[in-house]
Amino acid sequence: MKKLFISADIEGTCGIVDWQETEVGNAYSDYFRNQMTAEVAAVCRGALKAGFDEIVIKDAHDSARNLYPDKLPKEVKIIRSWSRDPFSMMTGIDESFDAVIFTGYHNAAGTGSNPLSHTMTGNIYSYKINGLTTSEFLMNSYIAEYFGVPVAMLTGDKGLCLAAKEHISGLTTVPVSEGRGNCSLSIHPQKACELMEEAAEKALNGDLKDCHITLPKEFEVEVAFKRHQSAYRASFYPGAYQIDANTVGFKCKDYMDFLKFEMFAV
Ligand SMILES: [Zn+2]
Repeated sequence: MKKLFISADIEGTCGIVDWQETEVGNAYSDYFRNQMTAEVAAVCRGALKAGFDEIVIKDAHDSARNLYPDKLPKEVKIIRSWSRDPFSMMTGIDESFDAVIFTGYHNAAGTGSNPLSHTMTGNIYSYKINGLTTSEFLMNSYIAEYFGVPVAMLTGDKGLCLAAKEHISGLTTVPVSEGRGNCSLSIHPQKACELMEEAAEKALNGDLKDCHITLPKEFEVEVAFKRHQSAYRASFYPGAYQIDANTVGFKCKDYMDFLKFEMFAV
C-alpha cells in the first residue's frame, strides 16, 4: 500500500491573478475552484496510475472549503476546514506517507513572480528562515521532512517552481503561469491538467531519494510585517524578540517550536 499526501492551495492555480478569484462565495471564484479541483484530480489520477492507493488531500486555502469533493476520484480522502493545529496547510501528514505533492502553490512574500505572492498572510512584507526567502512551499516541505516524507512534486507559478528546485534537487515541477507585475502569462487550463497527470505518474514511479529537503538543525526566523503593530504583538511570544518596529525574530532548534511561533505570533 502506498500513501500520498496532497496539500492544495489556489493562488498558483492555472490562470488565477486576483484575490476576488480566490474567495469562496465571490462570483469570480467558482471557475478557479473548479480549476483547482481539476488540477488536484489530475494529480490523483497520475498517482493512482503509479500505484498509490491511498491519497489524503488537505484543502489548504483560506476557509479550506474550496475543492469540490464530488469531482475528485473516489479513492481520495479530503481534509476540509482547519483543525487549528500548528501543521496548518499540512494537517494530516505523518510518517506513514510515502510522498507529498503540493498543488496550486504560489511564490513567497517579497517575490514578484505571481500577482498573488504572499507567505501565510497578506500582512507579511518578508519572511526569512536562516536567511532564506520563506514560501509556504519551503515551510511545508520542512514539515514533510520532519516526518521523513519526500516531496515528489510541485505545481504553481514559475518563479516558485524555480526557487523550489534550489531546495530539492529531485523535485518535479509543473509551472503553469509566469507573473509579470500584476498580470500573468499562463498555459491552457486543460493542458495544465494533462501535464500534471503525466508528471505525477512519472514522479511517483521514480526514485524519490533526491526529493528530501535538508531540515536545518537550527532555525533563525525573521518576520517583517507590513504593520508595525503586528511586530509589537508578536514580540510577546515566548522567545521572540523585536528587531525593528516592523520586524520580529525567533530562534529554535526543533521545527515544531517554529511552527508554534508561526501559529501564535504570526
Ligand atoms: Zn492560499
